[in-house]
Amino acid sequence: MQNLTILGSTGSIGTSTLDVVSRHPERFQVFALTAYRQVALLFKQCIQFKPRYAVLLDEDASQQLRALLRDAGLTTEVLTGVAALEQVCVAPEVDSVMAAIVGAAGLRPTLAAARAGKKILLANKETLVMAGKIFMDAVRDSGSALLPIDSEHNAIFQSLPRDYNGNAAQHGVRRILLTASGGPFRNTPLADLKNVTPEQACAHPNWSMGQKISVDSASMMNKGLEVIEAHWLFNASADDIQVVVHPQSVIHSLVEYVDGSVIAQLGNPDMRTPIAYGLAFPERIASGVSSLDLFKVATLNFTPPDFERFPCLALAYQALRTAGTAPSLMNAANEIAVAAFLDRKIAFLAIPQLIDTVLNKLPIQAVTCIEDVLEADAQARVAAEKVVRTLTLC
Ligand code: NAD
Ligand code: MG
Repeated sequence: MQNLTILGSTGSIGTSTLDVVSRHPERFQVFALTAYRQVALLFKQCIQFKPRYAVLLDEDASQQLRALLRDAGLTTEVLTGVAALEQVCVAPEVDSVMAAIVGAAGLRPTLAAARAGKKILLANKETLVMAGKIFMDAVRDSGSALLPIDSEHNAIFQSLPRDYNGNAAQHGVRRILLTASGGPFRNTPLADLKNVTPEQACAHPNWSMGQKISVDSASMMNKGLEVIEAHWLFNASADDIQVVVHPQSVIHSLVEYVDGSVIAQLGNPDMRTPIAYGLAFPERIASGVSSLDLFKVATLNFTPPDFERFPCLALAYQALRTAGTAPSLMNAANEIAVAAFLDRKIAFLAIPQLIDTVLNKLPIQAVTCIEDVLEADAQARVAAEKVVRTLTLC
């Protein structure tokens, strides 16, 4: 029996994880569920999965959940706050942690799980973008198992040799081909991009996801974050990671070897596949995902990325090459920019502008400890909020 903590259980990845878990009650037991403040859904999940703990970030929401659980006669204990997120990751009963909080808020609990040697199912790519070296060192030092859940990185993991140790030359790996759908604005006339709405940005053609990652997909910052994620997971340099725009999202990424072989993982675009893979690794279990109908897919297309249309992708490559706190600054500025766009305070095209301004304004420092990362994150948020005020739509 695998005892699970699911960080961000009310989100897109969290609910897909519980869907897979519910198909295998003999394998998985839920130790803790966590959310920001979605009381009704977290309550429903507690009724179904009877976790030992439920964590909410919001104090009022916690009170409400406590009352609901008491009335329902459940013994689930409700905790509140960031420290509680860490507590339910490091508890000795926990075997595995699904890291599915969105954004920088996922860093502390995910790092705590790594330091505690838990098996980590990593959806929260921002952890690697912000603190890649610190996190990977923690995984190595504690002997954690790290399973990438992001579909592309899961595909790369599946396409690499099982004993891959980060030494590409030793394993004959030439490069990584990271696929991208191109998002909802792949073919939108450039002149129309300045007027696109949050609804249009969140209407992803292939994937159903949370709002933040949907906007990131529309700007292709998501692919930029994923280039940095791949760098840390697979010890690949920026030059060895080629983004390939593949609008059907059927090939989830590929690995090219020195002999010319290219190995890929294919499947329907449904996150339950990488989630089930991570949950059961090294076994395979049913995920509820239907068979890939290649006859229906019929055609697969590939184009190089358009850096002019998607300046966020160029910013991310640049941040990776600059290193130090640059990716943290970029990530924080992006989070503020995306939130401001979703609030209709700034235009879609202001997202890369804002990030660029913040990156040019703030000094880039070396990262020696987690405090360096958190300090850069905080500084970038303050600077980005200032830029939002100057850009605010009237
Ligand atoms: P989501 O917005 O649907 O869900 C986010 C979850 O985090 C919710 O449970 C929410 O309550 C919780 N949360 C939000 N802010 C929080 C905070 N400050 N403190 C604690 N909890 C907080 O997001 P999602 O789409 O499920 O994405 C989650 C993560 O997985 C992101 O890092 C994303 O990049 C990554 N990811 C998602 C997908 C996908 O298909 N959705 C695919 C690949 C990777
Ligand atoms: Mg992805």
